[in-house]
Amino acid sequence: MVVCPICSSSEKLEIPYKFSTSILDILKKYNIQTVYHWYLCKECGNGYQFPKQDDRVLEEHWNRIEQGDVTSDDNNRASSSKRLFNYFYPFLKDKKSILDIGCGHGYLLSEFKQNGFETFGIDIDSQTKEIHERLGLDTQIGQVEHLDLKKKYDVVFSTNSLYFIQNPVHFLKKIQNHLNPDGYLCLSIADMLAHTNVAGPGYPLAFYPNYDSIDYILALAGYEIVSKENKLTNILIVCKINNQVTLPKINTLKIFILLKTKPLRYCFFGLPIKWLHKKLTGTFLSKLVKKIINY
Ligand SMILES: [Zn+2]
Repeated sequence: MVVCPICSSSEKLEIPYKFSTSILDILKKYNIQTVYHWYLCKECGNGYQFPKQDDRVLEEHWNRIEQGDVTSDDNNRASSSKRLFNYFYPFLKDKKSILDIGCGHGYLLSEFKQNGFETFGIDIDSQTKEIHERLGLDTQIGQVEHLDLKKKYDVVFSTNSLYFIQNPVHFLKKIQNHLNPDGYLCLSIADMLAHTNVAGPGYPLAFYPNYDSIDYILALAGYEIVSKENKLTNILIVCKINNQVTLPKINTLKIFILLKTKPLRYCFFGLPIKWLHKKLTGTFLSKLVKKIINY
């Protein structure tokens, strides 16, 4: 039976998806003929794929991203880490230690280290180790799902990686073991409904949240939201452990309509925003535009 990987409900609506050319290419390479579906869960409002993606596809997809990106996108990674740092830092000023799960190239961790935090990172990709060493970061290479550190931290970060974890609720519960009682879990996660991105689901994600449905996931895993904001394509969240949070009622019909009108919203809002942003970056209007579009 097809059930939601977040809440196990079988109530669902079929939603459109379009795999990226890279994914289609990999499916062809391994001669995978599986017919995939994407659904919107009527209980928790999250999107999910069925059946789950073949492990070979996931592995090759990530290898391709890493190989293509290591040098060319370094500047992008550094500047988006700087933006994340600027957003989260005011919440974390009185905290001391930070664990970044899925730390990638380590730029975010490096920002915090330079600002006096005690930092530790974990990432699955062994190729990132060399970059961590260059940045002087203390890290470990390994499966983030099997996280078992003998230490608690004031802050745990998970940026753009939660949807690649096969059992995200279990994973978030496990993070509680590594978080001090008054600590913060900080998340950055792409929004399935963001109008600056025309695509529906296009990558082999375990689930795809939106601004409303992420509340359900966090409540289910025992977290209370301290702050939540939509920044362009991503949702940025600060939350803390609270195992008494009640599950929110999610308006899935609203989510379904927003999803169906995404291409239209992209044309009228997304495209002009992206154009403005590109044109004005580096000019004196750049700051004002970033403020208007909440970047
Ligand atoms: Zn669900």
